[in-house]
Amino acid sequence: MPELPEVTTTVNGIKKEVVGLSITDVWTDYFSPLYTDKEHIKDKNYFSYFKKQIIGAKIVDAERRAKNILIHLDNNKTILIHMKMTGHIMYGPYRRSTPKEKRETKETWLPVLDGSLKDPFNRFIHLVFTLSNNKHLVMSDVRKFGKVIVIETGALHSHKDLHHLGPEPLETSFGFKDFKEVLLKKPNGKIKQVLMDQSVIAGIGNIYSDEILYEADVHPLSTVSKIRDKNLKKMFDSIKNVLSKGIDFGGDSTSDYRNIYGESGTFHHHHKVYRETGKPCPKKGCPGTIKRISLGGRGAHFCDTHQILY
Ligand SMILES: [Zn+2]
Repeated sequence: MPELPEVTTTVNGIKKEVVGLSITDVWTDYFSPLYTDKEHIKDKNYFSYFKKQIIGAKIVDAERRAKNILIHLDNNKTILIHMKMTGHIMYGPYRRSTPKEKRETKETWLPVLDGSLKDPFNRFIHLVFTLSNNKHLVMSDVRKFGKVIVIETGALHSHKDLHHLGPEPLETSFGFKDFKEVLLKKPNGKIKQVLMDQSVIAGIGNIYSDEILYEADVHPLSTVSKIRDKNLKKMFDSIKNVLSKGIDFGGDSTSDYRNIYGESGTFHHHHKVYRETGKPCPKKGCPGTIKRISLGGRGAHFCDTHQILY
């Protein structure tokens, strides 16, 4: 799932390419009977409402909150997009596929130009915004778990998808004291799960939590209240370092994530532990091996020697 660095990369791309353009049309085939009467474009009635709210409006800004993309419009509405497991947003000139192409490839929309947008990971287009320059902002989402809604901009922070979120770890105002305070909301929690809890800290998921704990020398199953202050300080620094590194490398494309040009990030070439099971620990002087354990239905990767269980 895209985490803070991937969502930041996408938002930066949206800011660069589409701010100032208007939305002239929107198309989707996300519909699912499981979402009837829900606040979600997978419900047909909601999608009609969504369309009315956004067509004709101009995109004035974009920002990230936790793993959500917020696209602000000039009519006091904001589009919220959560890419979930496999979603990613791309930008470029697209066209509808012909009935014959659709039969053969199942693809609904096709990029007009050759290049990264034609990467096989980018073929699963389920949402298309047509923009006033005749280019498109599209979402590819093979598993179709993505969430898209429209909210009154003024009511954003009280909305149920946003109001519970913990602080943003890369804000300069987020200091070590704040970090300790939020962690201790879950004193008995396992540190990896607590780091991934969006109500504690925003934006960290499976990949970055493994890499953060590796750098902090802390075992993923450690109980929060037992971790020494020295290691908490290390963890606080590694959160800032690892997430910033993720942004610098344009995100992580272990899974489906691509940037708005359809290109892979490169953070996955720099993993120390995530999906490195069986390899020697890369930490200088450490004789350990990278292990994988199951934690709450997901994998946790760590060095069996220098990451201490508290
Ligand atoms: Zn090690």
